[in-house]
Amino acid sequence: MRIKVIAGNWKMNNDLFESKDLISRLLNGLINTTANCEVVICPPFTSLSEASAMIKGSTIKLGAQNFHQEEIGAFTGEVSAKMLLSTGCEFVIIGHSERRTIFMETDELINKKILRAINNNLKPIFCVGELLEEREKNITEQVIQRQVLKGLENFSVGYLKNLIIAYEPVWAIGTGKTANPQQAEEVHHFIRKLIERHFSQEFAKSLRILYGGSVKPDNSKDLLAQKNIDGALVGGACLNADSFLNIIKSA
Ligand code: PEP
Repeated sequence: MRIKVIAGNWKMNNDLFESKDLISRLLNGLINTTANCEVVICPPFTSLSEASAMIKGSTIKLGAQNFHQEEIGAFTGEVSAKMLLSTGCEFVIIGHSERRTIFMETDELINKKILRAINNNLKPIFCVGELLEEREKNITEQVIQRQVLKGLENFSVGYLKNLIIAYEPVWAIGTGKTANPQQAEEVHHFIRKLIERHFSQEFAKSLRILYGGSVKPDNSKDLLAQKNIDGALVGGACLNADSFLNIIKSA
């Protein structure tokens, strides 16, 4: 049985005070809720330590949004996997489309980051997704196949047990346009089959594949009801405690 994951990607939102306020609201909201899923929040770096202290003993887990692929060194302004771990992070988002497009992250770099995360006991939330023009050209599966296989190149299956994949069609991120449940399910099914062919059936069965792209309380139930959708990576809607809590409830 795959336990669902609802992860919130806060992006570059919420200073320390706003972060504390949002976390308090989430903690309060979760007191009376038996969440049947894993709940992960990914605040900005500056709020990680405080978030970690606040969620201690609760059901909320901590993730980061990015880190540098090298272990240590002269990389001014960067943050390492070990540093994230020391704040209490358990998860890290890798390969988000904003990192791919705005910060020019390549499949090769993403592959290095996944390796570094795993070597530091951080669980990767590895994002893949096609652009609108790629969907319109009917090359969604080719794009996803390239991103998945390049991102996971040279890994043996034993290494990947803590991996989570997030399918996030780029045209649905922050746009209010959601892939409908059937469109999303088709790609999730494709990813699972791809993993089965290239790794193993057992791993494919246990791998959690999240959907991301304008997930909101009013569409999350239908998306999460799909056979191969094991949770959601939520951007905009995770910044409001009530919306995020309602998405958690729908899981
Ligand atoms: C995201 O950034 O991962 C995301 C899915 O954003 P939104 O929910 O706002 O589309």
